[in-house]
Amino acid sequence: MSQEARIDALLETMTLRETIGQLVLAEVGTPVGPAQQTPVTPDEIREHGLGGGLILGPMGSETTAEAWRERIGRARQGAADSRCGVPLIVGIDAVHGHSYFDGPSVIFPHNIGLGATRDPALVREVAAVTAAEVAATGVDWAFSPTLAVARDPRWGRMYEAFGETPEIQRLFAAPYIRGLQDGPGRVAATGKHFVGEGETVGGVARGDSTISEAELRQRHLPGYLDAIEAGALVMMASFHRWKGQQVHGHRWLLTTLLKGELGFDGMVVSDWRGAWESGLSVTESVAAGVDMHMLPDPFGEGPGWRDFIDEIEASVRHGRLPRARVEDAAQRVLRVKHRLGLFDTPSAPPDDIGTPAHRAVARRAVRQSLVLLDNDGVLPLSRDATIVVVGRHGDHAGLQSGGWTKAWQGTPQRSYPGATTILEGLREVGGHPERVQYAPDGALVPADVAVIVAGEHSYAELMGDRSADELVLPPGQRAWFDTYQRAGIPIVFVLISGRPLLIGAELARASATVAAWLPGSEGAGIADLLYGDHAFTGTLPVTWPATAAQVGQRAGAPLFPRGFGLTR
Ligand code: BGC
Repeated sequence: MSQEARIDALLETMTLRETIGQLVLAEVGTPVGPAQQTPVTPDEIREHGLGGGLILGPMGSETTAEAWRERIGRARQGAADSRCGVPLIVGIDAVHGHSYFDGPSVIFPHNIGLGATRDPALVREVAAVTAAEVAATGVDWAFSPTLAVARDPRWGRMYEAFGETPEIQRLFAAPYIRGLQDGPGRVAATGKHFVGEGETVGGVARGDSTISEAELRQRHLPGYLDAIEAGALVMMASFHRWKGQQVHGHRWLLTTLLKGELGFDGMVVSDWRGAWESGLSVTESVAAGVDMHMLPDPFGEGPGWRDFIDEIEASVRHGRLPRARVEDAAQRVLRVKHRLGLFDTPSAPPDDIGTPAHRAVARRAVRQSLVLLDNDGVLPLSRDATIVVVGRHGDHAGLQSGGWTKAWQGTPQRSYPGATTILEGLREVGGHPERVQYAPDGALVPADVAVIVAGEHSYAELMGDRSADELVLPPGQRAWFDTYQRAGIPIVFVLISGRPLLIGAELARASATVAAWLPGSEGAGIADLLYGDHAFTGTLPVTWPATAAQVGQRAGAPLFPRGFGLTR
């Protein structure tokens, strides 16, 4: 029997409530996430035949791959014991490596840094390593890659995008998806967020986009065509509005365009409580074309997955929603599960998390992602020179990794398992740890060279939205440039940020400036370049504005154009 025939035969045995159960994506982690979600129990999964589980954060004391596999295994058993025995699909935000796992997983540069590498083969390796580490913990679906084309640095999600043009989006969409889905540690990929969320008015997360259909097709759609061709199993609906209409209820975008014209036959998943967060009913959202619904039980008052099942059942019974649409949605869910091999006997994935080979890929990604903006000859650093690393970002794996690392908004911890900070990297790579001092608060420490590591504090999603005037270094950090300039100590400025900031004044005071983005766990990759062991090759994936007035405007001469990057 063909796969499609098997899916049809299975659907025929399912009751309406069981069919609807397949559309539920409920929390199966622990109630320690930022939202304190209440996880479903294996019994609830069995009783209601729930289709999907998600993990919205780290799992407290469960920090080993084995502990994760056990917990997820219990949820899977619930699904296996349900009347129809349909396997559970389990997903997680693995957006720059297995970034919610609290063990020693490798954390890669966020996508904007990968965009600077312009290296699709590297990005495919990055995704393959991510898949291997995700699969090792028993998870089979990543909510990545973000395929946004980010047009405005005010947007708090710019760093989740590869860059500001459809060419950069296209460079990486297919390699990333193939890396996740076609490697040894196979996990389902999710193109997100369909479509055009990187160009809202004012760069507002979950805001309104007023662009025309022609602009949408030309600027935001091309990477999705590649993603579909590469076999992307899942697409996530976006939280924004297009011309005033919520994407989660946009039938033309989700059904006519994505599933019809583009021929996408995988499943569309909602964003976090997508329909309700968008002010829609779940009936409207299913009708528009959302197939699987992210429905962690709420942390406060509000509807949850049980309400979803009840409402969709009532809507079908009262003729407000065609049963055929619900069956089509479930068919798509089952198709994804089949294609992913979830109906086959699972083979235990190797438990190789944070291996030297994986770290080597991440360190290479860091090296290739750094963009040298300016250098009067102070770089490369001499191994004989005494150095002072200035600023908290210089010795902080959490800050150098940004949002979506160990927690939604990033981690306040100085370090996490397996990470190397920039300071540690300089001490290790330079070979003379005693020559590298540290001034976390910017106090003057005499040295031949000051490496000022400054930039943004971690954020994710709407918490990262800023006005153009706010896209600057905090005053405390700016003062360090005065201190060291006055002392006549040459400055190497390493900027940690998820987007271009207005750094004209600091650039002028520094002898060399490096845009390091959010490099992740391998801080030594930065030292590799500062000491000149490898050459700078990264180029800007976004235009770098010179003034606040230019932010989001792309008018006038920028500080640096897209594509800029010195080699020495
Ligand atoms: C984000 C998605 C993410 C989801 C689950 C949402 O708020 O927009 O990108 O996959 O949460 O964490």
